[in-house]
Amino acid sequence: MTTTNKINKLVVIGVGLIGGSFALALKRAGLVNTVTGVGRSPANLDTALRLGVVDEICVDPASAVVDADMVLLAVPVGQMAGVMAAIAPALPEYAVVSDAGSTKQDVVALARQFLPQHLPRFVPAHPIAGAEKSGAEAALVDLYYNKNLVITALSENTADAIKRVRDLWLACGARIREMTPAEHDGVFAAVSHLPHLLAFALVDEIAAKPNAEQCFRFAASGFRDSTRIASSSPEMWRDISLANRNALLEELQQYQQQLTRLQMLLANADGEGMLAMFTRARDARNHWLTEILGSGKAE
Ligand code: NAD
Repeated sequence: MTTTNKINKLVVIGVGLIGGSFALALKRAGLVNTVTGVGRSPANLDTALRLGVVDEICVDPASAVVDADMVLLAVPVGQMAGVMAAIAPALPEYAVVSDAGSTKQDVVALARQFLPQHLPRFVPAHPIAGAEKSGAEAALVDLYYNKNLVITALSENTADAIKRVRDLWLACGARIREMTPAEHDGVFAAVSHLPHLLAFALVDEIAAKPNAEQCFRFAASGFRDSTRIASSSPEMWRDISLANRNALLEELQQYQQQLTRLQMLLANADGEGMLAMFTRARDARNHWLTEILGSGKAE
């Protein structure tokens, strides 16, 4: 556990799965007096209030942050510019601001553009935890337990602001990692953004088949497991894809080359070649599960 000072007023802008779970975890840790939720959907804000995810709600980001000592931006990355522009004139100098955006180079560039006075206290971050569910109803107090939280600190950040953000996420149960924004976006293009695009594309392709109903009727756990993330928020994934477009285009190209290799193996009925590829992939996945994630056993 950490010994961080209590926050008097935490403002969560975007009270969905990610922002709501942050609020719930800090409330449980006893680290916040009041959580104010800001959103664009009144129905979702009402749900957040009803479920006790937030203590009060507000539709105007500027008036909400006026007396905030901590602000979390947890909106889709395509909404960050508007939110930053709205809070910039009202943000108290002492407030620490962080975000939970899934991409970091774009968020950092937006902070430089819209919050230039606040860079010492704007600490970009990304919790590596989530689900395909959205909204305040999806918030979970334990979402971040034992999950990575990547901080992509700015050279302008004060040590105090970084410590503040680290301590809060530690109190949520997260493990803190540090990366540069470019390193972050390259890694997550490969292991998060590409798999989401593949899942969306696969389901979309099958749904367009003339016998789609029949296909779905017989789809079982393999299909469910490999397409779970196609149930994610389309808006969020559009924004992430556009924000990390260059890295993602590179990943898609490499994946297409791999599919072409597989297509050739199949066209040539090259069973040995396929066996070699599948064995390499299975071994790499088992290594990831047992050695890297440290789960102790392969599936
Ligand atoms: P979500 O859809 O559950 O929540 C987002 C909330 O933001 C919604 O309630 C929406 O109404 C609100 N919102 C949208 N535009 C707004 C605006 N302009 N002003 C105020 N509120 C606004 O999404 P989420 O999964 O909580 O994702 C939030 C952020 O966290 C995104 O930037 C996403 O990239 C990032 N993230 C998501 C995951 C995940 O797996 N879901 C994981 C890590 C990070």
